[in-house]
Amino acid sequence: MKTARTFGSHGRLLKIDLAHQVIQTEKITANDLRLFMGGRGLGAAIMLRELPAGIDPLGEENLLIFSTGPLVDSSVPGSNRYVLHTKSPQTGLYSFSVSGGHFGDMLKKTGNDVIVIKGKASRPVYIFVEDDGRVEFKDASHLWGKDTADTQDIILSEIGTDARVTCIGPAGENLVPYACLINERRALGRGGAGAVMGSKNLKAVAVRGRTSVSLADAKVMKTAIKNGYQELKQNPMTAKILKTYGSSNMLRGLMNNGVLPGNNWTEAALDKAESITAEQMREHFHVKDMACSAGCPVKCTKMFAVSEGEYQGAQSEGPDYETVYAFGSCCGVYDLAPIIKADEMCDLLGLDTISTGVSIAFAMECLEKGIIDADDTHAGDLAFGNAKAMLRLVEDVAYNRGFGAVVAEGTRNMAARFGSDSHKYAMHAKGMELGGYDPRGMKGMGLVYACGPRGGCHHAGGYTAIAEMMNPQIDRFAEKGKAPLVAGTRNRRASLCDSGLICAFVAIGLSDETVIGMLNGATGLDYQPSDLHTIGDRISQVERAFNCREGLTREDDVLPDRLLSEGVSSGPSQGGKIEDFEAMKDEFYTLCGWDLKTGAPMDERLEALDITWVKEILNTK
Ligand code: SF4
Repeated sequence: MKTARTFGSHGRLLKIDLAHQVIQTEKITANDLRLFMGGRGLGAAIMLRELPAGIDPLGEENLLIFSTGPLVDSSVPGSNRYVLHTKSPQTGLYSFSVSGGHFGDMLKKTGNDVIVIKGKASRPVYIFVEDDGRVEFKDASHLWGKDTADTQDIILSEIGTDARVTCIGPAGENLVPYACLINERRALGRGGAGAVMGSKNLKAVAVRGRTSVSLADAKVMKTAIKNGYQELKQNPMTAKILKTYGSSNMLRGLMNNGVLPGNNWTEAALDKAESITAEQMREHFHVKDMACSAGCPVKCTKMFAVSEGEYQGAQSEGPDYETVYAFGSCCGVYDLAPIIKADEMCDLLGLDTISTGVSIAFAMECLEKGIIDADDTHAGDLAFGNAKAMLRLVEDVAYNRGFGAVVAEGTRNMAARFGSDSHKYAMHAKGMELGGYDPRGMKGMGLVYACGPRGGCHHAGGYTAIAEMMNPQIDRFAEKGKAPLVAGTRNRRASLCDSGLICAFVAIGLSDETVIGMLNGATGLDYQPSDLHTIGDRISQVERAFNCREGLTREDDVLPDRLLSEGVSSGPSQGGKIEDFEAMKDEFYTLCGWDLKTGAPMDERLEALDITWVKEILNTK
């Protein structure tokens, strides 16, 4: 059933009430599809409109919003994505995460662009959504306690292997605030949506369908896709570097620039990180290259396996760069085998690798500094570099047991518990642990972490690392003038990658003109390249408004103390630190149209972006 004459989308939203086991469908307006594109944009608008302020993220009122975009289930390379929004139990703020694999395409084939889940089931269930309008609430008591691989296998054996599943592991069931969802071996990683699923007794969502959308202009689409493949072939990042090494290729550049954080950011990981580079990973552990979606020529996905030694048998799809940083240099572990093991464990248990690794690294530093002692940790010798203790803790975090239950709280809460001056070493922004790019040697990343919509994420609020390291026109140590770079990368990511939707790695190699051809071919709209930035700005304002309604102010846009008070200890960024972050914020707020005092979006910008309803919500809070 089509509820709106739209191209590239069904125009349909499915609401599922877990408590009463009822469903309802709604039309998505053409105006919302135009203004917000899809995915992250639509989800952000629904979050602000439908989620009351101040609710408990683990309470029944919280929502889980699964969404797709106009390019999903098309032949655009890397368009196989879906987005999940919820209020984060980790930050208490807005959150979203994005995953690839095959779930997103199948979700759209159910005839829905968006599925909103509310309430709490009285017992463990999984939901099965099909395109004939049926939604089944299936018993999941036999799945409770199972890891993410077994859960998917069992569900597929029950409903058919042509379905697709996204699910939580034990970490989500145990309400770990940074628990994630896994589909296949891919993660909806950050923000703790896994714990929200667990709080609702919802083990998994399964989808199956065959309903395709009509494209507005197949010829325009075909030409744009052809151009896109050519561009991907010509860009060295998509044609060679990502194809050969995956995202871990980043590690060498960061190491060479002295911005790869080591030992919980007490040092720059330099020569010793040679042992955990992407080259080492490929040489010693590589099994095969894969594409997470049909037709993606980049094939950045790698299967790695450990074939000998203590960790023999461990295998993972990855680890991505962020995982190598979190369990490798940040924990002082310069051995790829236990890092692959940690990645495998996190995927099976349903844990975000960045928050898990950085929280363990924080405990290691607190132990080293005598802020906590061996009796507190119950984890043996939790020294930097102790891979065995690190891996034991990963499991204990997921099961919320022993000292793992403390680490499961994340660095912000651990610091509050440990006291002393431990908050200075807790590497998070708004409760979310930082990705692996030291802003002391690439200042734009400071704004990304502190002012991004979901806390210390390295890309939702922009991503300046590649430009700051590789563009000779940009002084990576400069603070002044970084705001346009941050806002520009943020807006393209929010619109094209997270709302369109196209994989961010694929998007590196595509020109704005080409992706606009894809979007217009799919939707029949007349988007211009500048709309990527306008729509991204609009989405960012809605996200900011959500957080401001939750009480966020300028005082919350802060970085860990260490980045402002301690210079980088050695290497090419030696001595670097953030000098005048308030001035950087002034510049960024002014560019974003945020009030310099409160940090809230200002009326004029909201009006210019055609979202006056956001102004009304903010003014009545
Ligand atoms: S570039 Fe990598 S993550 Fe992106 S669609 Fe291709 S294989 Fe998947």
